[in-house]
This record gives sequence, C-alpha cells and structure tokens, in this order.
Amino acid sequence: MDIMQYTENLTDICGVAHLMEDKERLIETYGDDICKYPYAIVVGHLMDHDIIESIPLSYNDDKIAQDYLDEYFNSHQRAAKIADKIADFIKKQGFDAIVLDVSGDSDEVNLKMPFSNKASANIAHIGWLGKNNLMTTKEFGPRLTWVTILTNADLKDYIKDEQDSLCGDCKLCVNACPGNAICDDPDPRKSYDPVACGEYLKQRRDDGHPVACGMCLYICPYGNEKTAKLRSNAEN
Ligand code: SF4
Ligand code: SF4
Repeated sequence: MDIMQYTENLTDICGVAHLMEDKERLIETYGDDICKYPYAIVVGHLMDHDIIESIPLSYNDDKIAQDYLDEYFNSHQRAAKIADKIADFIKKQGFDAIVLDVSGDSDEVNLKMPFSNKASANIAHIGWLGKNNLMTTKEFGPRLTWVTILTNADLKDYIKDEQDSLCGDCKLCVNACPGNAICDDPDPRKSYDPVACGEYLKQRRDDGHPVACGMCLYICPYGNEKTAKLRSNAEN
C-alpha cells in the first residue's frame, strides 16, 4: 500500500500541498524550515454530525453550546492521532514526516509563526476559503478539522488542480451570522471580519455562555442537506 492509499483509508478527505510552488512567500512568512520538506499531506477529519446539526439550538442551550465546543477540541485530538499513524507509516517507508499540531507548530521545525492547517488545505486545493473564511469542501462543506504532515516523500502525482470558490451568489452564512461578521464579498480577506466575530464571542462569554458559535459552519449548503435544498429552491 502506498502512502496516499494508507492516508485515504484513514481520513474523510485529504490532499497534498506542494510547498515549493509558493516557496518564496512561504519562506518569507514562516522561515526557511517550512520548505525543508517539499510536500505536506493535509488531512480533513469530519466533526460529529449530530453535534454540528444541533448548533442552531446552542444559542439558547449552554449544554449544547458546550458539547459543540468540546467536539471542536476532541475532533482535533482525533485528527492528531490519525496524523501520527500516517507519519509512522511514512517513516517506515524511509522518509521524514513531521506532524504539525492543532496550532500549526512542531518542536521539530523552527517556524517564525505557526503554519495554519487551513493554509495547507488551501495550498493542497482540497477546497476553497468561503465567505466565512472557513476551508470549505464540495463534499463536507466546512465541517472538518484539519491537520498537516510535512514530508520529503515524493508525492507530486497527488497534487490536485486548483479548486475555485463555489460560494457564488450564496449568502447563507452572511445572513445567518449573529455577529454581523460576514459580508457578501467573494474575497474571504474582505468578507470575514475577525474583530466582529471575536466581539460577538466575547459578548457571549460576558453574558455567561460557553464561548462557542458555529452558525457559519453549520449553515453552509456544502455539507448541509437542508440548506442545500433551500438554496437550490431559491435558485429555481
Ligand atoms: S463564528 Fe459566529 S460570529 Fe463568528 S463568523 Fe461564524 S457565525 Fe459569525
Ligand atoms: S454559506 Fe454560502 S457563502 Fe457562506 S461559505 Fe458556504 S457557500 Fe460560501
């Protein structure tokens, strides 16, 4: 079994980022170590379906909000275990493999700043950054946790073509965001306002609720059969 067959068997979605493609920009941002390893395997692990489906109820039920918050962290731990298995498999094939943790860092590399797992998923062309600034896939929308494994194994045959944004005219996350933190602009650097999102979460905390809000993750029609139907009815 080759490295990517092994990876596919363990993951919900995965891809390969060719870090040399964007070498100069990556080195400028993260330092030389990021390109010691030419490839990154990017693994997407699905968050619990029932917990994500309950997000609309979480604003009036702290237990549901806390369950979502816990699942956010638990899914990262599950993804990290999967990544460790893949790294062990790669090492047994005679190559180097370094797992970046949930914050995008590792003791084994010297990075100027953590390498976002979302950025590696983007370079791997697994999906696109939605108007909500979440990595969004055709198959599961943004309902995924990401983890990155840097490696020197030759994975060029697994590089995918770029994935254009499929947001189009959709404004579901724009209209549903309780913090008014998303606007209708195709460029996620302009459409998503991290300050407004943070202020909303801070307000939730100050009001005594768990610091959890996942409406933009829940509502996306990619991964949500109910809102996908609504969107297609509205278009017809
Ligand atoms: S987490 Fe909540 S407040 Fe922040 S962008 Fe998403 S829906 Fe809006
Ligand atoms: S809800 Fe619609 S606009 Fe928002 S990220 Fe998903 S597809 Fe894009």
